[in-house]
Amino acid sequence: MAHNLTIAAPARPQVPLQHQRALLARYLKPQRGKVALLGALLFANIGLQLARPLIVRTFIDVALAQGPLDSLFNAGLLFLAVALVNQGVAVAETYVAEDVGWTATNAMRADLVFHCLHLDMGFHNTRTPGELIERIDGDVTALANFFSRFVLLVAGNAVLLAGVLVMLAREDWRVGAVMTVVALGALWVLARSRNIGVAATTEERQASAKLFGFLEERLAGLDDLRANGGGAHTMRRYYEYMRDFFHKWRHAWMLRAIIILIAVVLFVAIFILVLSLGAALYQAGAVSLGTVYLFSAYVGMLQRPLNQITEQMQDLQKASASMLRVEELYHIERQIQDGPGDGLPRGALAVEFADVTFGYGDETPIIDGVSFRLASGEVLGLLGRTGSGKTTLTRLLLRLYDPAAGIVRLGGRDVRDLPVEALRRAIGVVTQDVQLFRATVRDNLTLFDATIPDDRIVAVLRDLGLGGWLDSLPDGLDTELEAGGRSLSAGEAQLLAFTRVFLRDPGLVILDEASSRLDRATEQLIERAVDKLLAGRTGIIIAHRLGTVERADRILILDGGQAAEQGERARLAHDPGSRFHHLLRTGLEEVLA
Ligand code: ATP
Ligand code: MG
Repeated sequence: MAHNLTIAAPARPQVPLQHQRALLARYLKPQRGKVALLGALLFANIGLQLARPLIVRTFIDVALAQGPLDSLFNAGLLFLAVALVNQGVAVAETYVAEDVGWTATNAMRADLVFHCLHLDMGFHNTRTPGELIERIDGDVTALANFFSRFVLLVAGNAVLLAGVLVMLAREDWRVGAVMTVVALGALWVLARSRNIGVAATTEERQASAKLFGFLEERLAGLDDLRANGGGAHTMRRYYEYMRDFFHKWRHAWMLRAIIILIAVVLFVAIFILVLSLGAALYQAGAVSLGTVYLFSAYVGMLQRPLNQITEQMQDLQKASASMLRVEELYHIERQIQDGPGDGLPRGALAVEFADVTFGYGDETPIIDGVSFRLASGEVLGLLGRTGSGKTTLTRLLLRLYDPAAGIVRLGGRDVRDLPVEALRRAIGVVTQDVQLFRATVRDNLTLFDATIPDDRIVAVLRDLGLGGWLDSLPDGLDTELEAGGRSLSAGEAQLLAFTRVFLRDPGLVILDEASSRLDRATEQLIERAVDKLLAGRTGIIIAHRLGTVERADRILILDGGQAAEQGERARLAHDPGSRFHHLLRTGLEEVLA
């Protein structure tokens, strides 16, 4: 597969800066107003923070000089007011930041889900759903903070840093100069450590995606797993995945911790420096005690920007890794694109395969030079051993895959010339295992198409013999089905799938008959439903039962990827030398199952 999401991270993976900017712009532009508000709140917050030590300095100096009690009282009140407003602003800032972040990342999640829904089956075959969940939700969550706060926090902290340095220089130019040099040096060191953890973090997230992919797969296969005693093996593999995740997480975390450590050491050094400077200046009588307090308070305020810039850098590492993976996912393109032509007419559609060859991987083809024609309104009985490629053949008609060679035609037109949606709308499929969703009966039948009126649904259900079943439902069409249709029998599920096809009224019906046996009564219901479904439509039936085969006008037997035999059913049935004749004699069930 050309596109592989699990490619090892390059030695120093870094999303180019313009990508980060483009991604930010794409999701923040629609929220311009809120982003501006967030900026304003941030600056208000910084201004208020810078004002507070000034008030305390006045208080200390007035108190030491035994000044009037009134001004002390006023300074205290002012301090309280500023502190309160500051808190209010901080709360508002957090709220707006979260709001912006969630709005942006939800839009991104939706875009990714949409993108994945439209990617080829070839892509989904190589990914477990768990892995995609981790990609769509985990990675995007890691980006949330980046969206809501990164730029504002880094910009805000830079302004706060500059503000502190200006305030220090205003008090004493020597202190200001020394602190400027020191702070710039600190920032330089932190910026250099920016990429320490990206590669390790990418690996950590990949290990986590694998763990969830594994869990999802095993939970989905719980029935078979239990029945076959695969529990111990599953636990073992689970431990292995967990251990891998743990090791990668620890490694990445330790690398990220180094950056924190660097920041702490730097900060302690800076604090020692300013206290020594302040003490020396005070002893020389150059500054008041209040000003020494001011120095230490401002330098204390440096800790936050330094820490937060560091933290943001760390986040940037996580975000870079996630962004890399999100971008990667975005850049996987659908290979199956819409054709230039317009849709198909209503009514029965002819089918033609012309020398079609197809394989899932690079190995031997599953379908190897198959040709056949089916006139509109005819029914094809498709036979062959299990694994002979019957289901695969129908997937080519739906363009879930494109053939490697040859042409598939529907209604006389190359399926690659049709819009994919229109093509799939013209074909109704009942697959071997019917997928039912955790939704109402109505939504399961219309597949969420609200334009289909209820009375039509009910009419079709009754027509197909599901009237009794419908009446037994507690809330009628509003009854919620369980995920996977666990509350339904195989026969009922099949009949519901028929109903779906009826409601869409396609020109071609593909019936991939379940090979499991049904009870006699259900089988009769299904036989009747098949008759109704095929009336006025072209049909392809992958049959496992003699009863179904008798409906076919033509027969195609697949063997080893090739059309081993084909022709009119009646003629083949009466030709003692034909495979079909042999099949009929020995019984389909024995030979084909
Ligand atoms: P059955 O009667 O059991 O339904 P079938 O004739 O429908 O069998 P297909 O499902 O078309 O057989 O499978 C044909 C071959 O292609 C099998 O060997 C199968 O392993 C392989 N195959 C099917 N689906 C895929 C897939 N998504 N990826 C890779 N190989 C696949
Ligand atoms: Mg099949």
